[in-house]
Amino acid sequence: MKTLAAEFAYFLRGRARQNLKALLVYCAFLIVMVLVYAAIFRFLMWHLEGREFSLIAGIYWTITVMTTLGFGDITFHSDPGYVFAAIVTISGVLFLLIILPFGMISLFLTPWIDQRLRRRLTYELAEETTGHIVIFGLDMTTRAVVSKLQAQAAPYVVVTVDQNEAFELEAEGFRVICGRPTDAKVQTAVRIDQAKYVIANLSDPENVAICLSVRSRCQTPIAAFANDDDHINLIRQAGATRVVPLHKILGRYLAIRSTTCGALAHVLDSFGDLHIAEIPVYGTPFAGSSLDKAGIRERTGLAVIGIWERGRLTVPTPETLLNENALLVLAGTRQQLECLEQITGENAMNDLIFILGHGRIGCAAAQFLEQKPVPFILIDKTANPACKNHVPIYGDATVRHVLNQAGIDQAKGLIVTTNDDNTNIFLTLASRQLLPHIRLVARANCDESVSQLYLAGADFVVSNASLGANILFNILESKASAFLTEGVSVFRRPIPEFLVDQRIQETQLRQRTGCSIVAIESEQGQIEVSPSPETILKTGSILILIGTPSQEAEFDAALGRD
Ligand code: ADP
Ligand code: ZN
Repeated sequence: MKTLAAEFAYFLRGRARQNLKALLVYCAFLIVMVLVYAAIFRFLMWHLEGREFSLIAGIYWTITVMTTLGFGDITFHSDPGYVFAAIVTISGVLFLLIILPFGMISLFLTPWIDQRLRRRLTYELAEETTGHIVIFGLDMTTRAVVSKLQAQAAPYVVVTVDQNEAFELEAEGFRVICGRPTDAKVQTAVRIDQAKYVIANLSDPENVAICLSVRSRCQTPIAAFANDDDHINLIRQAGATRVVPLHKILGRYLAIRSTTCGALAHVLDSFGDLHIAEIPVYGTPFAGSSLDKAGIRERTGLAVIGIWERGRLTVPTPETLLNENALLVLAGTRQQLECLEQITGENAMNDLIFILGHGRIGCAAAQFLEQKPVPFILIDKTANPACKNHVPIYGDATVRHVLNQAGIDQAKGLIVTTNDDNTNIFLTLASRQLLPHIRLVARANCDESVSQLYLAGADFVVSNASLGANILFNILESKASAFLTEGVSVFRRPIPEFLVDQRIQETQLRQRTGCSIVAIESEQGQIEVSPSPETILKTGSILILIGTPSQEAEFDAALGRD
């Protein structure tokens, strides 16, 4: 009842009220028209046919003719009568059957539906909401962030200016508010001053505008994406707390894994003096030997904390065989990595990397290789207007002779990074067939393609959405957690009270949580990499662990997070 009254109340306000007046005037006009026709009807019947009808009969005849019902119980039998009846019918069709419904729809129905939809879209945050995440711009990456937030039942709201997008998102179950990101009303509606974090994920100029307008109101931290390197500082100056140049990071991740050149180039993350690096086995002297025969630890001091093979991470034993298509995850200091560089570096300049796709990510990968320097060849169908430094070979990479002419048989590494996943899968499959030993890293624009790319023969796949979401999520959580690749992170935790003074093997951490200890950081900041199982855990130390996100959660659940 209440909602019905609210719907009626709509017609008594503002524009709807004016439209209602117009409708009443039009109805009065129709009534006058019917009365005039009824009078003419009576006059003609009397003078042409000598029949007398009441005014009610006249009105009845006019209405049945105007609405084209025409029962035929009262009819004219003369030419002037027929002409009059035709005029009444035509004006009825025009004024009653065309103009009236059309006016009703455009003046009432459309604005009313519009208004209802708009009202439905202004998702309202509960008044006491705090600590939520406000997301400007939803794409694959921020969608993945939302899924993570939903899994934690953490509050969030998405803002979009596009009404159609807002409807679609709402239908998909997102909490969405429709409006301009910089609009003060919108920012009030999303309670921006009470939010935990703002994510700016639109174009660089829009992100700058968001940062400035948020900063003029409050100090809520902002994580903003930067599409162009030149804009990173601008966005920071505008007030962003963290700037994420996602394309650059992605390009770097792909490039790191495509070459064996320079172990230092492979550092993915650092915890103080401890660096975590990944290096492909292929092309190194370790290929084909077992972990203990390779003697990496003896020769460099580095610990091999994990081995990637076709998308699966395993914790190695001394007997583990280092296959050519595997990637080693290493932990150690800078000096230790430099030492490794001397061992693997011999082949470095012989390396040649092909980059298929010179978009923003391909360009970033090229820039990274350029600095090492590792020689590379870019192939793209079209010119990249944003790049002035590289000269690609123009051609469709899916055409075999384009690759052959470019000399793909000389390549040691291949980065597949077009914006189309089907093309990437095709290129991966074709290249793997052509060059069984090439180090092949591929980019997945959509998470579903990750497994297909591995199936097609990629040694390593980096997914845009997952990588971006992980980086963002770590920022939101202020985690000291590094993202290594799909679903693996390195994270720090203080040693829980009840584990103090136990030996590592007694804690059964790996059996209980699946996580492995990479290093222990003492209270004085000294790092012991890959501690032996006999090591005793001391109070005040910090554990650096490696595991999947679910193992990380397991660790927190099993041991209680400090
Ligand atoms: P991003 O900026 O995310 O890397 P882009 O769309 O800018 O994505 O880049 C993808 C690049 O891949 C484009 O420059 C496009 O021309 C290129 N590309 C797509 N398909 C092919 C193909 N079959 N052969 C060569 N290059 C391709
Ligand atoms: Zn470039």
